[in-house]
Amino acid sequence: MSASLLNKRAIVTGGSRGIGAAIVRKLVEQGAQVAFTYSASPDAAKSLVDELTATGGTAFALQADSADPAGLQAAIRQAVDRLGGLDILVNNAGTLVHALIDDFSQADFDRTMAINVRAPFFAMQEAARHMQSGGRIINVSSNVAVSAAVPGASVYGLSKSALTAMTRSLAHEFAPKGITVNAIQPGPTTTDMTSGMEDFILGMVPAGRMAHASEPAALVAYLAGPDAGFINGAAVTIDGAMTA
Ligand code: NAP
Repeated sequence: MSASLLNKRAIVTGGSRGIGAAIVRKLVEQGAQVAFTYSASPDAAKSLVDELTATGGTAFALQADSADPAGLQAAIRQAVDRLGGLDILVNNAGTLVHALIDDFSQADFDRTMAINVRAPFFAMQEAARHMQSGGRIINVSSNVAVSAAVPGASVYGLSKSALTAMTRSLAHEFAPKGITVNAIQPGPTTTDMTSGMEDFILGMVPAGRMAHASEPAALVAYLAGPDAGFINGAAVTIDGAMTA
């Protein structure tokens, strides 16, 4: 077992399913102790904790709706208490409402921005208070921040472009403290979020396939690891040449 993250303490938002669950698995596999949040999937969260605990890893789950910044910050403080500190924050929780402008409600606009933009901001605010030099923040953005080739993703694209922009600015803010802030920008990845959209998506990916969740997860683990200390303020696209 590789142990590049041995003794590191991590929090992953939205770790119950999809890319978040793959990130939790990868960080634990590399030796980190991982707390993750979930909102609507307690059974998936419990089964991931059971799976990782059975292999000797340390993982636990906290219910915290990212739409509630105070609740999310409280969950981060709770996780920090239990972990005894914090080295890594991964802002992964996200939502996609796929709809053309005529069908897009104000409630969906506000919820998208609350979960995809406001939550990572206040998670970083709280997490950075507990991090020492060497801390790592990784934001799961999207390749729609590079190229908006998909109709119906205007608000999602807005939210992910904002997350990438925020990443760059906060990298400047936190660099003097020795904390790096990077974004990953995955292209289409096989998860519940893209379920049913495969035929529509596949034609746009030169690689001819979607990513496996383990692929963006491996990139997150690299950015969280000891060799990535001088990568800061970067937005790394991982999309099979879709936006190249
Ligand atoms: P997913 O399969 O829909 O899973 C979303 C995860 O986020 C779940 O664990 C969910 O937990 C959590 N989550 C959603 N809303 C939440 C909330 N309000 N509070 C707390 N947790 C919440 O999505 P995914 O494909 O894994 O996406 C993960 C991230 O990657 C997102 O930020 C997404 O925008 C980004 N991304 C995905 C793709 C893709 O093609 N799949 C591509 C680029 C970027 P619960 O079920 O417990 O609520």
